[in-house]
Amino acid sequence: MATLEVKNLSRVFADTRAVDELTLSVGDGELVCLLGPSGSGKSTVLRMIGGFEQPSGGSILIDGQDVTRVPPERRPTGMVFQSHALWTHMNVFANVAFGLKLRRRPKSEIRQKVEAALATVGLEGFGERRTTQLSGGQQQRVALARSLVLEPKILLLDEPFASLDQHLRERLREEVREIQRRAGITMVFVTHGQDEALAIADRIAVMRNGRLEQLSRPDMLYRQPQTEFVAGFVGQMNLLPGTVQGGMLRAATIELPVPVADGPATLALRPEDIVLQRRNDGRGAQVTRVTDFGTHLSIEVGTLNHEKLRISAQPETGWAPGMAADVLPRRFAVYRNGDLCFTPPAGLNAALPAQVLPFTPPRETSLATAFPQATPLRESLVNA
Ligand code: ADP
Repeated sequence: MATLEVKNLSRVFADTRAVDELTLSVGDGELVCLLGPSGSGKSTVLRMIGGFEQPSGGSILIDGQDVTRVPPERRPTGMVFQSHALWTHMNVFANVAFGLKLRRRPKSEIRQKVEAALATVGLEGFGERRTTQLSGGQQQRVALARSLVLEPKILLLDEPFASLDQHLRERLREEVREIQRRAGITMVFVTHGQDEALAIADRIAVMRNGRLEQLSRPDMLYRQPQTEFVAGFVGQMNLLPGTVQGGMLRAATIELPVPVADGPATLALRPEDIVLQRRNDGRGAQVTRVTDFGTHLSIEVGTLNHEKLRISAQPETGWAPGMAADVLPRRFAVYRNGDLCFTPPAGLNAALPAQVLPFTPPRETSLATAFPQATPLRESLVNA
């Protein structure tokens, strides 16, 4: 069993607050990804968990034991870095065996464990190879084996496959996921690639400026981003600046009734949550670009305010630049001051027929009728 708790963890470098009061729990056998743009503090958090960086404040507990001041070699953690840093003067076997030799394990045990670790990463029979004779992907597998052989309770991976090409990266991350499931190792995996995080994580911690923005299951992160930053960072999102007045949000050419107090607000719409309805009178929004991805069309629409909206549509629906259309949101969210302040209850959208043009804002209807189950997230923003 290995659980990890990070409490109010901070790290300040000169005038940079690299990590700012981060609190995070990772469950036994769970894989949590730290996701965020470059410089958001992900590596610093990981290095502090591994003991390679001293926190300026806060604590780190593994299985309930405070390890904040314990040196790396005495922590039950293993670390895999982006640059694999294998020893080129040793063969693969010696590289993987190194840590066990330091621990003075018997030779027979070392052989058996190294062979098992190499088999786990798909490198059976590679023990005698020199590391210089390996491809980038194989070298990274050796680095992984070198950590796994020490049977860490928690494996920390810092962008381990960033230097590999896309195809290999996808394969290796699936393999890591498989190893993690089989061995039940608790893992913390740093990445700046949302696809990678969405593909492998049990939960994703989105970081920004050293702080935790949201910690959620991948599907929840995509469907219910709690901040405007997460909305824009994970998946594609149209973020339109708008204004709420008298319970009506206006952004670009869109008008929606929302139970939100008057003031500026951002309307967030996923490309797949918008339906385009063709207009023949030339009014409405203009289709400016259509890209056919085979599985779907990506349609760019220019609005009167010169904002651009991206919309996903079924292939072969005949959309072409120059066409005019109404933009009809099926699902949306409203953010104010960076935080989510309203999203219609799922029931409202689920009730809509899938391909039929859905949500014509009921202008004359009272808010209570339009959103019978609406539960505003912030009492203070509610106007009604
Ligand atoms: P990420 O892994 O998300 O790219 P890092 O944890 O590497 O981010 O860095 C977070 C911030 O801390 C950055 O602004 C970076 O420049 C700064 N930083 C990291 N390590 C050091 C260091 N050793 N000295 C000074 N600043 C550092």
